[in-house]
Amino acid sequence: MTDTLTAPTLTADVCIMGAGPVGGALACRLAEARVSTVVIDRAALPPMAHPAFDGRAYAIAAGSRPLLDLGGLWGKLPEPPGPIMDIRVTDGRIGRPAARLHLHFDHREAGEDAGPFGWMVEARSLRVALNAHMPTLPALRVFAPAEATVERTDDGATIRIKNGPTIAARLVVAAEGRQSPLRQAAGIPVTRLPYHQTGLVCAISHERPHHGLALEHFLPSGPFAQLPMAASADAEAGGAPNVSAIVWTERTAMAERLMALDDARFNREIARRLGDHLGAVHVIGQRWSYPLSAMLAHRYVDTRLALAGDAAHGIHPIAGQGLNLGFRDAIALADLVIEAVEAGADPGSSALLARYQRRRRPDNMLMLAMTDGLDRLFSTDRRAIRLARDLGIAAVHRATPLKRLFMRQAMGLSRLAG
Ligand SMILES: Cc1cc2nc3c(=O)[nH]c(=O)nc-3n(C[C@H](O)[C@H](O)[C@H](O)COP(=O)(O)OP(=O)(O)OC[C@H]3O[C@@H](n4cnc5c(N)ncnc54)[C@H](O)[C@@H]3O)c2cc1C
Repeated sequence: MTDTLTAPTLTADVCIMGAGPVGGALACRLAEARVSTVVIDRAALPPMAHPAFDGRAYAIAAGSRPLLDLGGLWGKLPEPPGPIMDIRVTDGRIGRPAARLHLHFDHREAGEDAGPFGWMVEARSLRVALNAHMPTLPALRVFAPAEATVERTDDGATIRIKNGPTIAARLVVAAEGRQSPLRQAAGIPVTRLPYHQTGLVCAISHERPHHGLALEHFLPSGPFAQLPMAASADAEAGGAPNVSAIVWTERTAMAERLMALDDARFNREIARRLGDHLGAVHVIGQRWSYPLSAMLAHRYVDTRLALAGDAAHGIHPIAGQGLNLGFRDAIALADLVIEAVEAGADPGSSALLARYQRRRRPDNMLMLAMTDGLDRLFSTDRRAIRLARDLGIAAVHRATPLKRLFMRQAMGLSRLAG
């Protein structure tokens, strides 16, 4: 790397801090559209070779796919994504069969244009595609691992990379995840909702095929989701033909006890919550646990700065939408920036940033409120509430327009005006 005193100055339209899924996908989308972009991550980007199966996966909603297509990433995923064709929502209790009243969403009911609800994509696959594609884009420069300082004024931003070049950019994007140093430096307050719950994440191999059906089983201690993944060649010796991701919420003390169980007991706890429709199940890869909380930044923008992804919001994983909201931020911001650059306008102007905030903040706030409301509604065992929500489930099941609205929201196909 270059000495700071002699470091050259590079110019770029956009400088993105954070090459995670949101920052990385945004960088690829912009660079594919020939917007000159720099992306900086403080961590080394993991090797591009395919790492070992680790059990984590994202539900990528249908509305997020164009970002990965236009960013040149979808075709580079090393493992085929598993389509989600149907979703079944049930209310139940651990160890008992699911309640008779359930909601069944068939992707064909969402509209004539509707394909799958989304796809299950292994987290490692997305990383591999990102890290392989970013260095190939002529309009994108990647610095990682790198530490940088950022100075913003009305006229532009200056980013100084330690032992590296200085970058003059029109816009800085904070995509550094929940703790976002840029958000904090800009003094943007956040509202946080602690959940006192922990998310348990793993993958399971099962005897019978899932036929693309995702199950969301609402239990008093928190929601339990089984999400259909594509067959995996290397998840276990000999390959695993039937694989699902499990995202399971428990109160924190219980989650700690579950994490400490041996595999045989952990498998039994999964089976008690999942039911027996997939036959015998066992965990493959690792088990992961995440403390859960929701968060929303009061503003998404500041002088020459836009927040995107987890830097701007965090929601309960009850609907598998966290990353999708970040992808929708990236889609909205990329559209505005590309339009400005093509028109010879300023991609970091306060007018553009205000439009970005108007497009994204209400949508994210709505999803935060919906996921928070669902968690509160279902994470209780009080009889009256159970009865009311079972009747609600039955009513939504019969009300086609309402059901369709829910489906399009989950697919990321409905958008608030802005
Ligand atoms: C239990 C659980 C299950 C989930 N399941 C799903 C799901 O099924 N579907 C879904 O859509 N979402 C899901 N999510 C949410 C999803 O994981 C996050 O929304 C997503 O990782 C956010 O991506 P990001 O790029 O914004 O941030 P991050 O993934 O946090 O990436 C931030 C990047 O910035 C870098 N960075 C940090 N600080 C700096 C700095 N100072 N300078 C430069 N770089 C920096 C980091 O190294 C990292 O590479 C789940 C979350 C949890 C907790």
